[in-house]
Amino acid sequence: MAFENKRRSEAEYSQLADIAKEIRRDIIRSLLPAGSGHSGGPLGLADIFAVLYFGGVMRYDASNYQWSGRDRFVLSAGHLCPGLYATLANAGFFPKDELLTLRKFGSRLQGHPGLDMHLPGIETSTGSLGHGISIAVGMAISDLHLNKTDQKVFALTGDGELQEGSVWEAAMSAAHLKLDNFCWIIDNNDCQIDGRVKDIMSVYPIVDKCVAFGFETIEIDGHNIADIYKGLDFFEKNRAAKTGKPTCIVAKTFMGKGVSFMHDKYEWHGKPPNKEQAEQALQELA
Ligand SMILES: [Mg+2]
Repeated sequence: MAFENKRRSEAEYSQLADIAKEIRRDIIRSLLPAGSGHSGGPLGLADIFAVLYFGGVMRYDASNYQWSGRDRFVLSAGHLCPGLYATLANAGFFPKDELLTLRKFGSRLQGHPGLDMHLPGIETSTGSLGHGISIAVGMAISDLHLNKTDQKVFALTGDGELQEGSVWEAAMSAAHLKLDNFCWIIDNNDCQIDGRVKDIMSVYPIVDKCVAFGFETIEIDGHNIADIYKGLDFFEKNRAAKTGKPTCIVAKTFMGKGVSFMHDKYEWHGKPPNKEQAEQALQELA
């Protein structure tokens, strides 16, 4: 889809790239003491998280996280939560020290986000793949019914997650119900826990599928800040124009982005770094 968006200053892009790097460092810092958890996927999402939460896209109040005027973000691929936790901590939803409690007994930062943990910034429990997007579609329906037409709902799914049939039920509903306040982001790294998505169960062509399901769809480089803005501006344009169509952003990403030995390796889907690996990763991300 050809779409020209507003340009921002180079200083703004560079500041967001720095924030993305800090999110990546915090992902590594939290995974080391956890001794378990997902490294590769969260690292691949840091740039998108930085733009969403620090680039003026999402409306939120970290000190009043249940503010009724907020936009909502649902991480449907709940296992990618080390990236969301790091982002929320940097945005001031909770103290950064708490990141070191990831996956510990009694911690609010469990291996998959749980609403019962009452962690500020978490909108719903996710982890059962294909469910988060359905809940997010429900939020978007509710906002339109309550006439909150200027509020946005975002859902992020993995690409392996597209193998879940319920994802497409949610997509069908979003289009049928004309949810132009809903933005679906697909993390397209072509990796899932046991291999390449195209080998395990191909979900391609993703863009064609989303268009066929009634979404305004755009493909972006999920590591290029200007391109991420392009996708989010595309959503904003559709939403403001009240097209009656939801938006899908297919983000091309690399698992393990920013850490050389994890780059594009599906083996890092569900594995934490050991001490030496964490040290090397933090050096590379310095
Ligand atoms: Mg994937």
